[in-house]
Amino acid sequence: MATNSIGGSTALDRLRRRYETTEKKCPACGYVDDGANWTSRTDGRQVVYRHVCPSCGAGREHTFRLG
Ligand SMILES: [Zn+2]
Repeated sequence: MATNSIGGSTALDRLRRRYETTEKKCPACGYVDDGANWTSRTDGRQVVYRHVCPSCGAGREHTFRLG
């Protein structure tokens, strides 16, 4: 089963949602991803949000430090 290791962190959920709503448009090709398939991972010290454009494959990352 796939599990989200940062489940329960509502602040992180909000941050992710902010990226999903404000960064829909790919800066490389202009494609607007309504699905906003951001993924997140954390090592306990920082969270990395990553999105790969389904149109051109360009990757974007945002790193958010915890604490
Ligand atoms: Zn793109």
